[in-house]
Amino acid sequence: MNYQDLLAVVQEHGSPVYVYDASKIEAQYKRLNDAFKKVKQVKINYAVKALSNISVLKLLSSLGTGMDTVSIQEVMLALEAGVAPEKIIYTPNGVSLEEIERAASLGVQINIDNLSILEQFGTKHPKTPVCIRINPHVMAGGNTNISVGHIDSKFGISIHQMPHLKRIVENTKMNINGIHMHTGSDILDIDVFLYASEILFDAAKNFDNLDFIDFGSGFKVPYKEGDIETNIEEFGEKLSKRFNEFCKEYGKKLTLAFEPGKFLVSESGKFLVKVNVVKQTTSTVFAQVDSGFNHLIRPMLYGSQHEITNISNPEGRERFYSVVGYICETDTFANNRRISEISEGDILSFSNAGAYCFSMASNYNSRYRPAEVLWHNNKAHLIRKRETFDDILKNQIALTF
Ligand SMILES: *Cc1c(COP(=O)(O)O)cnc(C)c1O
Repeated sequence: MNYQDLLAVVQEHGSPVYVYDASKIEAQYKRLNDAFKKVKQVKINYAVKALSNISVLKLLSSLGTGMDTVSIQEVMLALEAGVAPEKIIYTPNGVSLEEIERAASLGVQINIDNLSILEQFGTKHPKTPVCIRINPHVMAGGNTNISVGHIDSKFGISIHQMPHLKRIVENTKMNINGIHMHTGSDILDIDVFLYASEILFDAAKNFDNLDFIDFGSGFKVPYKEGDIETNIEEFGEKLSKRFNEFCKEYGKKLTLAFEPGKFLVSESGKFLVKVNVVKQTTSTVFAQVDSGFNHLIRPMLYGSQHEITNISNPEGRERFYSVVGYICETDTFANNRRISEISEGDILSFSNAGAYCFSMASNYNSRYRPAEVLWHNNKAHLIRKRETFDDILKNQIALTF
């Protein structure tokens, strides 16, 4: 997927447009799988919320992943993509008992993260196997919004509540077949992750019928050249060894599960926008593009820094730009960024646009959500049409006055 290919996608499908490189997704999947090749049974469940286009789900499923879902709609989407229910894990937070029962009736693996629902579900459905989401209270994650394992986090059942948890399981005679943690995104320190894993192993010893241990996700990917990222190979080596030891101790070959989103799809994605206006102010040169935080909210929400390349003039002299959108609210994508000289009409490409980009897009300012394209076998495949005015009006009810 070179610059010419990307420019051709804009020619054909217009801008703004998201483009995902299938070969990068495949390479990341292979990398993760290879890192854990010393473990007999490994299950990689793709976190659907990162990028939930049905063609992407089908691609990942064809590679061999299961799906990690956080809402009943994501469960339905994964089923629609042809994923077998037993390859889907449902890990909601704060949803109703009814929704969990619905997911259970569809045959997917249930993962429960609070004692109230656990007791209610266990009382009504003692036979349904349930995984438990533990909060190990390990501080990890790159931004407070994505650190979900700390003491005041709303996620998981506190490891300190193990006595109460065990009592519920004994009283209801429910079947706990898995134990899970997910401590947040952007983990840099492998040792912190391994430390959290030890807490999970300790917790696992309280249940004698486990089939799997799910270590969640949170692998950090690079955002620019030379950026630090989770060393998956070293991590795989260390955790595999420890996991195999634990299985011996436990007396059963368990499955090691992960549920990466960002790691699998982040780097595959490019977001292509067109420069509408180059605007000089007294202190800055703004490049204003035909998009905004309605299409890519991560810079405003998390302060994430997506690399931006002027693919219409990649060899041009570099100058400093603030890249902003067209939303009537501050929507800065990048401040004071060195980019090769920009002219109006140029196409800019944002990197790391695979995860949490399209899936967080909205219609704010009554703009259409972008088209999505999957680059597969050296060809561009449209996998979502750009919205139209009908989509904006759909479901609205116009009263007459
Ligand atoms: C969001 C989420 C993930 C994926 O996290 P990444 O950082 O994208 O890998 C995995 N598991 C659960 C439960 C999640 O909520």
